[in-house]
Amino acid sequence: MDRLKIFLIMCLMLVTGLGSGCAVSKSNIHGFNLISVDEEKQLGAKFAAEIEKQLTVVNDPEIQAYVDQMGKKLLAGAREVKFDYVFKVVKDDTVNAFAVPGGYIYLQTGLLKAADTEEEVAGVVAHEINHVVARHSTRQLTQKHGYSLLLQLILGQDPGLVTQIAGSLVGKAGELAYSRGMESQADFLGVETMHKAGYNPDGILKFFQKLDSMNKRDPNALARFFSSHPMTADRIEEVKKEIAKLPSRSYTADNPAAFAKVKEKLR
Ligand code: ZN
Repeated sequence: MDRLKIFLIMCLMLVTGLGSGCAVSKSNIHGFNLISVDEEKQLGAKFAAEIEKQLTVVNDPEIQAYVDQMGKKLLAGAREVKFDYVFKVVKDDTVNAFAVPGGYIYLQTGLLKAADTEEEVAGVVAHEINHVVARHSTRQLTQKHGYSLLLQLILGQDPGLVTQIAGSLVGKAGELAYSRGMESQADFLGVETMHKAGYNPDGILKFFQKLDSMNKRDPNALARFFSSHPMTADRIEEVKKEIAKLPSRSYTADNPAAFAKVKEKLR
């Protein structure tokens, strides 16, 4: 191999962020990923089926319609929509939300109860959408379990393993412990998505600040969200800075009456 080839390969490795320790540019959503989009869709469907056996999905057409419209509005502001996104509310009073591969996004009832406005919920959902857009979970899962094991899951050779890994996706620290770089990218893109979609990105900031003060009062109540999404003063500052960089625009008002009704139903 000549020197030029070696040089080009090294450049490519740097660009794709090969070697997990490589710093990832917040704006680059196309990091190195061994799992194809189609494989991710298959894997996601398997995890979602398993998760919905382990958690109780809230079966209320009005609440479903509410999260569907919010999700749809947010996706209009995402950089790329490669998956058929699904938004569901699950009965669990911890303040949390999580995404599994393939665009399945789950909002815990505790998140809706803790939020005061639709924009606050939308902030968290925008963050989760962008973990999917940048395909963080398949990147993390490949790193943790290896490509061949994930392929085994996709091919359905080991249902027990699907159960086991899906279990660890349900909010506990573990598979969902994204790297700090991934969290900060999901925050950065979340702010951008909200802005483009017409949601005031202050919602994400307000909710993070609220979580931070709730955590100081009662660390147990938020243990799950904080184990998968550590909230630091730096992180809040970063979000503030990103919001300040945005060009000014008017945001379409969200629907306080619809949100109040959802909260009333969950009470
Ligand atoms: Zn996150």
